[in-house]
Amino acid sequence: MVEGMIWMVFIFYLVYTLVPTFLIRRLGYGVFKSRTESPCAALTFDDGPDPQYTPQLLDLLARKGTRATFFVLGAKAEHYPDLIRRMHEEGHLVGLHNYMHHSNALMTPWKVRRTLEHSADVIERITGIRPVHYRPPWGVFNVFDFLLIRKFRIVLWSMAAFDWRSRGGTDKIKRKLIGKSERRRRHSPARQRRHTGREPRRAGLYDRGTRGCAGGCPPAGHLFCAY
Ligand SMILES: [Zn+2]
Repeated sequence: MVEGMIWMVFIFYLVYTLVPTFLIRRLGYGVFKSRTESPCAALTFDDGPDPQYTPQLLDLLARKGTRATFFVLGAKAEHYPDLIRRMHEEGHLVGLHNYMHHSNALMTPWKVRRTLEHSADVIERITGIRPVHYRPPWGVFNVFDFLLIRKFRIVLWSMAAFDWRSRGGTDKIKRKLIGKSERRRRHSPARQRRHTGREPRRAGLYDRGTRGCAGGCPPAGHLFCAY
């Protein structure tokens, strides 16, 4: 009896979230890929805006003349509308990370949809532009997210810095991203060509504690670009 229930829960989650997440994350089904002719890296920052770190990050990006994409939480956007306005006015792209940092695997489809639309409303009220780029927390999806593809552009990442758990500061993050970039270049020439030829790499960073990274981060010898 108990064993049967465990199997039912496992099969439910297999169909509800594991298979869709695999299809989207590994096979790229429905993932938005920007096209560009120049080799470049698109910097993306998740989880903000943060009153302590986001202004520092925006200052740094302004000094470097670099544009980035911020996947923000609707709840934080409500608290810090000036930071969202500043992102927009300084030429950065504001995308959605949903309203709270909750996994789509643990939410009903209608709750994902409702909170996503509410977050888009919040940002549209601040910037005047309705965001369409969307990256769910942890890159976890559920099967009903395939229905969102018609309305939102799902954006993932090519490299993650794991900077939220990095001890060792900026140098360690920089080494990690440049190292990953070099390994990809050496071991996957075909993939590398795809990335340098048409599609920008997306370096995933976090808008909390990434002090001083954007200017020196990935990958050496590449330009930075926005979507
Ligand atoms: Zn996140």
